Order: sequence, then C-alpha cells, then structure tokens
Amino acid sequence: MARLVLKFGGTSVADPERIRRVARHVKREADAGHQVAVVVSAMAGETNRLVALAEATALEHEGLMDAREYDAIVATGESVAAGLLALTLQDMGLPARSWQGWQIPIRTSEVHGAARILDIATAELEARLAQGQIPVVTGFQGLGPDQRVTTLGRGGSDTSAVAVAAALRADRCDIYTDVDGVYTTDPRIVRAARKLERVAYEEMLEMASLGAKVLQTRSVELAMAHRVKLQVLSSFAEPDAENPGTLVCDEDEIVEHQAVSGIAYSRNEAKVTLVRVKDKPGVAGRIFSLLADSHINVDMIVQAVSADGVSTDMTFTVARENLAKARDTLNAVRGVIGYESLVADPGVAKLSVIGIGMRSHEGVAAAMFRTLGEKGINIQAISTSEIKISVLIADEYTELAVRALHTTYGLDADS
Ligand code: ADP
Ligand code: ASP
Ligand code: MG
Repeated sequence: MARLVLKFGGTSVADPERIRRVARHVKREADAGHQVAVVVSAMAGETNRLVALAEATALEHEGLMDAREYDAIVATGESVAAGLLALTLQDMGLPARSWQGWQIPIRTSEVHGAARILDIATAELEARLAQGQIPVVTGFQGLGPDQRVTTLGRGGSDTSAVAVAAALRADRCDIYTDVDGVYTTDPRIVRAARKLERVAYEEMLEMASLGAKVLQTRSVELAMAHRVKLQVLSSFAEPDAENPGTLVCDEDEIVEHQAVSGIAYSRNEAKVTLVRVKDKPGVAGRIFSLLADSHINVDMIVQAVSADGVSTDMTFTVARENLAKARDTLNAVRGVIGYESLVADPGVAKLSVIGIGMRSHEGVAAAMFRTLGEKGINIQAISTSEIKISVLIADEYTELAVRALHTTYGLDADS
C-alpha cells in the first residue's frame, strides 16, 4: 500500500463529465489499496473570470484593490471544484469530503496573492486517511496569519499538492494535467516537441521559472527540498506502463544527459533602456535600489562599454505588468540619476535553452547564437547560468526561434 497525492488541474475538472473522469483515476488508485489524498484547481477559466470580476469591481470604486478581498474572491474557484469532485466520488461509492485551505489549515505567509505555505496541520487528514476516507483539498488556497484566506499565485495548486505530499510523507505526488508529461518545449507551440521520460529537479526548476507553465516554479522547489517524488501525467488517458508520464527526479537517476533537455520562453517581458547614463561609481546601485524599493524585480541587465568615458547605455528587463511603474519610478528621479532619455519596449520575449548536460558539453551557446543569426533574429541581451542560456529577442520571432532551436539541439521527436 502506498500513500499518494493526486492533483488535477483546471482543464481536467472543466465540467461534470471531466470531473467524473478524474474521479475514476482516484477510484482506480483507491481500489488498488492505496491511501489517496486529492488536490484540485478551479474549473478551467474560472480563476480568470473571478480575477476579471474583482478587477472590474475595484475599478468602479477607483481605489486600490484590497488584496485580502481579491484572495477571498479568487479562492472560491477551488472550493467549488473540490465540492463537485467530493460529490462525484461519493456518487461512485467512495467516502470523500472536501477540505478548504482554512479548514485544514494550510498556514501561509501574509503576502496576499502570492503567499508561501508555512505549515500544514496533518493530524486530522492522517486520521481520515487511516479510516479510508479520501480528502479532496482545495489547491491555491491557504490561511494567513491575519486569519484570512490567502492564495499562492497563479498556477499555485501544483504547489499545494507538493506541500500536502511533503506534509503527509506521501510516496508520490502525481500531477494530472492536459498533456501527458513534461516535453522538450511547449507541445502546443512545437508539434515536434518530445516527451521527456525523466527530467532532473534542477532542469525542471529552470524550465518552470523561465516560462514552462506545466508546473509552478515553487512546486518544483518544494519537491526538490523535501525529496517528493513527482510525476506529471495526463488526466485524459489511462496510465500506460509502456508510455508513462514524466518523472521529476534527481539528476543521478538519469542515465544520459543531452546538452540541452528543454527550451522555454516567456512573453511576459519588457525592456527598459536608459540612454546616456553617467558612467561613474554608485549610479547602477542607485537605479536598482530605486526599482527594488518599488518592488520591481529586474531580470536581465546589460551595460554597454562607455565610448567616451562619460556616459553609457544601461538596459534591463522587468515583467511586462511592471513596465509603467518602472518608467514612472525612474522618470521621477531623472535629474538625480542623470540620464538623457528612457526607452521602453514591451515587445520582447525571453528564450532559454536548459540542460544539465551543458556543464559537460561545449558549444551550446555558439549553436544558439548561430541558429538565431541564420534566422535573422537579433539578440538584445544575454544571461547565463551553469545549466541555462537565456536571450532576449523581439517578441514576434518567439515561435520561429523556439522551433529552430528545437531542431538545432536534436530535440525534434523524429530526429
Ligand atoms: P493545469 O491546469 O493542469 O495546471 P496548465 O495549463 O497550468 O495545466 O499546464 C499545462 C500546460 O503547460 C500544457 O497545456 C502546455 O501547453 C503547457 N506547457 C508549457 N511548456 C510545457 C512543457 N515543456 N511540457 C509540457 N507542457 C508545457
Ligand atoms: N486556479 C488557479 C489558477 O488558475 C491555480 C491553479 O490552477 O493552479 O491560477
Ligand atoms: Mg497549472
């Protein structure tokens, strides 16, 4: 007998028929004699609908949105889905009940809209599991120190599932979604994308944080920290021993490492260039401190070599939704910092190639730059780590670039 946490995403619980399909996965594992806890997302589109409703209402009041009320509103999507799945399981003769985050409770930090899980009380869940009951837990939700409902950020149900699996010391956490595993790149963009049988935690972490939304980044961090065995598979197919999902595991559980295992992209980028900034000590510190004080996260940074020893151009990227705030913050201190002009460009994308094999293969960057050059795509900024190379390009070339690189690194399914 194993203890399993099964997580089902939005498309998997999109309507009553799909919820029944999900319930059959749960029943199969329960019938096999396993203890099963379930984590669910809101029905597909529901969180977006609730966010839009909250935003429309806040705008009408012309005030800043109260993040606690935002959470109270958007968390309801998961409550509905958990109740519907518990009802379906009961209908199939299984003893199930729904659990909202506050009822367990799943304790989180106070950062509404982007809370972090701090602690999960397990005594009650343990007792129910021992009796053969199936807890259906709402993903995405928690309870803050102010005793109010919090949410974990978009895609946060993955993190709820891994955290519940870690707290319950589950043997495995299965993430059921609308694709049958983690692919070399988004299979909805590149038809030739290939499913990975295994992917190392470190690689998955980079892929998630660089744009592959199949798992929330924080869920991979947690799985890595708590050694949770994580599997990604499709809720639309029966598990197939011949063709399993993807296992996220330690790198030494993977026999052979290709130079590049995956390609990710993010279109949520914007570029800011400060033209003719003074080239003297302390200026960069002042610029980035100001941005940090405004809670703006800066990603790639490029500073050109000063041609005249007096001034230089400084370029960096921020999340697209922060562009206006970054521009306002810097414009307000233009006189103090001393730059000629600020150029903002929301039309950029970040493209990344990721692979643990990069540590031992040379020429990975050269192949990337050559491929982009051959397609006439200009590289606007570069950043690297031991296992990834990211470049900034014009947004309209994203798909072309992902496809070309996929071929360059021998990742196409039929190669
Ligand atoms: P869920 O609602 O189940 O949480 P998500 O939409 O959050 O599902 O994540 C699944 C989606 O992630 C897939 O439909 C796919 O388009 C996208 N995706 C992006 N990159 C990858 C990748 N490398 N492998 C698999 N799926 C990916
Ligand atoms: N329902 C939430 C969202 O859409 C959480 C999740 O799906 O993981 O972001
Ligand atoms: Mg998701």
